[in-house]
Amino acid sequence: MTLVNLLDLDLEALGAFCERLGEKRFRATQLFRWIHQRGVADFDAMSDLAKSLRAKLAQAAEVRPLAVVSEQASADGTIKWLFDVGAGNAIETVFIPETDRATLCISSQAGCAMACSFCATGHQGFARNLTTGEIVAQLWHAERALRARGLAVGAAQRVISNVVMMGMGEPLQNYAALVPALRVMLSDHGYGLSRRRVTVSTSGVVPMIDRLRVDCPVALAVSLHAPNDALRDELVPLNRKYPIAELIAACRRYLEAAPRDFITFEYCMLDGVNDSLAHANELVALVAERADTRIACKFNLIPFNPFPQSGLHCSPHERVLAFAEVLRAAGIVTTVRRTRGDDIAAACGQLAGEVQDRTHLRERAARRAIGIQLQRPAQPAHAKESA
Ligand code: SF4
Repeated sequence: MTLVNLLDLDLEALGAFCERLGEKRFRATQLFRWIHQRGVADFDAMSDLAKSLRAKLAQAAEVRPLAVVSEQASADGTIKWLFDVGAGNAIETVFIPETDRATLCISSQAGCAMACSFCATGHQGFARNLTTGEIVAQLWHAERALRARGLAVGAAQRVISNVVMMGMGEPLQNYAALVPALRVMLSDHGYGLSRRRVTVSTSGVVPMIDRLRVDCPVALAVSLHAPNDALRDELVPLNRKYPIAELIAACRRYLEAAPRDFITFEYCMLDGVNDSLAHANELVALVAERADTRIACKFNLIPFNPFPQSGLHCSPHERVLAFAEVLRAAGIVTTVRRTRGDDIAAACGQLAGEVQDRTHLRERAARRAIGIQLQRPAQPAHAKESA
């Protein structure tokens, strides 16, 4: 008999599972706390559950962790795990400690089919969606491992204060598995994270942004990376299906469900590609396209982490600062992401795991990267602007 992986179940589904075992629904809450708050996988160790229930669980269920291939710690405290998800595929999960928060960056797919040209994962191609259990298991493992290092804080003795779905994969292309996983993270009996401390990052799957707004409106980050369709079509191929105007309209609708929130626009700074002052001014016009209301947003400028196949380079630091200044001068909150964990290839856009590409994206992405290179001006456009 195949055992049910309890990491696949949100509290509602676990309640239904308990009923199928002939138990009261409320037992699910106890079980859920043991698994997610105390990190216990062994039913025998769940001392306040009746022995008869523990016996039934042992027959029908398991808490299935991911197999750890490696754990690497960066000099700056960042930790990266590589997990084996079978059939030659491995995914990456990254812990990023900061003074005021401790963030876990979680993968949603083995590889990614979106093929963004500046992203190492996108160059690897796509193997498969992760299950809910495999998404949750990354948090479950990280929390346990970090507690074992004595890093837990506060009355709840938790380590991880924020989750970002920004690892490998496009989370909104794995919607059915994503939403139950988010519910486990948000549940008071699970990880107890507030809605604003869980962020889903998307390259712009417009219909799914609308569904997320209804089903589970957590914080939303959008990988924008270009201020116009011509450039974004090249950098984020999904733009050809859902162009910028549709994406921005979906962001506005999202904020109607969460009016006190804002959208975080991620913008990877690529030398000579998307980093001129003209691009910055275009962005300002884009988010203020309607005179009455500027979209509530923040920009996060990400210094590009080069990898050999991309053919792209990071913008010089002064240009990143000048770009940020244009946005700030227009009243837009703008941060420049500090690169973390680059000594262990854990920085943004560097996650590459191991992927058995079923989609031949690698070859196509390589061809596109060459195309972008050819379009770059011989001399960067902003050489004049900064002169
Ligand atoms: S940036 Fe995100 S959506 Fe684009 S290829 Fe990388 S993982 Fe996929």
